[in-house]
Amino acid sequence: MPQHTPQALKRWSSQASGEDHAERPFKVFTQRDLDRIAPLRALPAATRFEMQVVSTVLPFRVNQYVIDELIDWRNIPADPIFQLTFPQRGMLAPAHFERIAELIRGGADKTALDAAVAEVRAELNPHPADQMEMNMPRDADGARLDGIQHKYRETVLFFPSQGQTCHAYCTFCFRWAQFVGDKALRIATSEASALHTYLSAHPEVTDLLVTGGDPMVMKTRHLKAYLEPLLDPAFDHIQTLRIGTKALSFWPHRFLGGTEASELIDLLTRMVRAGKHVAVMAHYNHWKELDTEAARAAIRAVRSTGAQIRAQGPLLAHINDDPAVWAKLWQMQVRLGIVPYYMFVERDTGARGYFEVPLARAWTIYRQAIQQVSGLARTVRGPSMSASPGKVEVQGVTEINGEQVFVLRFLQGRHPDWVQRPFFARYDDTAGWLDQLEPTFGAAEFFFEPEYRAMRQQRRAAAAR
Ligand SMILES: *Cc1c(COP(=O)(O)O)cnc(C)c1O
Ligand code: SF4
Repeated sequence: MPQHTPQALKRWSSQASGEDHAERPFKVFTQRDLDRIAPLRALPAATRFEMQVVSTVLPFRVNQYVIDELIDWRNIPADPIFQLTFPQRGMLAPAHFERIAELIRGGADKTALDAAVAEVRAELNPHPADQMEMNMPRDADGARLDGIQHKYRETVLFFPSQGQTCHAYCTFCFRWAQFVGDKALRIATSEASALHTYLSAHPEVTDLLVTGGDPMVMKTRHLKAYLEPLLDPAFDHIQTLRIGTKALSFWPHRFLGGTEASELIDLLTRMVRAGKHVAVMAHYNHWKELDTEAARAAIRAVRSTGAQIRAQGPLLAHINDDPAVWAKLWQMQVRLGIVPYYMFVERDTGARGYFEVPLARAWTIYRQAIQQVSGLARTVRGPSMSASPGKVEVQGVTEINGEQVFVLRFLQGRHPDWVQRPFFARYDDTAGWLDQLEPTFGAAEFFFEPEYRAMRQQRRAAAAR
C-alpha cells in the first residue's frame, strides 16, 4: 500500500495545508553582485553594462527564488518578471543614461560619480504626491511623527524601520528613493510606542496599514511588537490590520517552513481569533507570480490563519499592459481565494517614462479585462491614481453635449465629502496623471481644488510654526 508510506503521507499533508516545507535560505543579489547572477552571463556585454549604469541610479535587488522560479530566461528581455526586477536601459532618460555611462566608462572617481547620481535622482521626483509634508501628522506640540502617515480619516499608515527594504525591488517602485540610502527621504520609525500613542488618541481610525518597503522583511518578533499590543481593549476601534507586502510573490518561503514562518502564521491566527480583521494586501503585477508551487502554498498558509488576502498592483508598460494578463491574474486570484482590490496607475516618479500607460489606454485595458471575468473578480477598482488630493479613479470616457470627457471619481479623498462624486475632465489620449487633466464645461478648476488649496496652506503654516 504505497500511499501509506510516511513520505506519501507527508507529501499529501504538505499539499493540503501548505505547511511542512523545509526552511529555505534567503539568497539576495544587489548591484555589486550583478556578475554573480549566473543567467546574466549569457547576455551581451553591452546589455550588462546598461544594467550597471541604470542600477547606479535606481535601486536593484533580486533573490534566488525570483531568478530561478519566476523569470523565464528563454524570453529575455521581454519576460515580465525580468522587466519587473532587472534594470533596463530605457528606465533612464537618454541624457541621464549617457551622463552616468560616460562617467563609468571614463573610470570617474567615487565623489564625481556620487555627485552626478545624486543630481539625476533629484530630477526623478523622488517624493511624489507631497508625502513628506501633507501626510505626516504632528503631535500636540507640533513635532512631526516620523513613520506615521494619516491622510484618510479612517486609515493610518505605519512604516516600521525594520521593514524599509523588500525581498526584491520592483524597477518601477515609487518608494525607490528610500532604497538608495537617502536618509532624508526615509519616513520610517522604530517607535512602536509612538504608533500606539497616536492610535489610542484617534478613535476615528478603524484601519491600520503596516507598510514599507515590505513589513514581511521584518523578523516576526518585530512584527509582533507592533501588532500584538493592539489586542488590548484600548484599541478596540482598530478593526482592521492590513499588512502591505510583496512577499507572497517575491519570497513565499517567508510563510513556509522554519520557526520564523510558523511564528508568523501563529501571530496572524491569534490576531484573527482575537476579533481583528487581518488583511494581507498582496502586491501582484502578473499571473506568473501565482504560478509556482511555493506561491500557492504560501497563499494557503496565510488563508489557513483566517486572514484575508487582497490583491493590488499598478498597470505598467512592458509588464502587464494587456487585458488578457489582467483577466488571467484576477481569475487565478479568485480561484486561490484572493480578493482583487485595486488596479493602480503608475506614479509620477523614478522610471515613470518607461512604464507609463496613458489614462485613456489604462481604462480600456481595465474595461476589456473586467469584461472577461465573473462578478467575483469585479471587486477590483481602477485604474486609480494615488494623487495628493486622493485616490482618483478613471470611471470611463464618454461624450456629453458633443464634448469627449473622462468621467472621474474619488475612491478616497483628503476630504471624505469628495468621495464618490462624479466629475469630468477634458478627454486627452496622452494624459497620464491627474495634474495633466483639465476641467471641462467652462469650469476654471476641479470642484475639490479650492478646499485642497486651503488644506495645503494650513499644512504649510503648521510646518512653519
Ligand atoms: C490607499 C491608501 C489608503 C487606504 O485606502 P483604502 O481606500 O481604505 O484602501 C490609506 N492611506 C493612503 C495614503 C493610501 O494611499
Ligand atoms: S515590493 Fe513594493 S515597496 Fe518593495 S520595491 Fe516593490 S513596489 Fe516597492
